[in-house]
Amino acid sequence: MGNWKTNYRVSDLSDTQKLEMICKKCSRLVYINKATICTAKGREQLYLDEIEKRARCKARGCKGQMRMAMVRQDEMSGFTGGLA
Ligand SMILES: [Zn+2]
Repeated sequence: MGNWKTNYRVSDLSDTQKLEMICKKCSRLVYINKATICTAKGREQLYLDEIEKRARCKARGCKGQMRMAMVRQDEMSGFTGGLA
């Protein structure tokens, strides 16, 4: 799992896979997926680390760098179960 950002292209993501983008400056958190990444042509050929490098926080006046994390759907369902 270590180098998934350099091993996976956007086109390798499943349609339901979500990624978290967290701003290193203001901690703004946004979720992205294949559809939202591919709003610009040619992006599905990019590796995920290239998407991460290009991403900038959209908060007003911030433009901080974003850190990408994969949202593990099995962990999320386990987490919800633990709360119930
Ligand atoms: Zn920010």
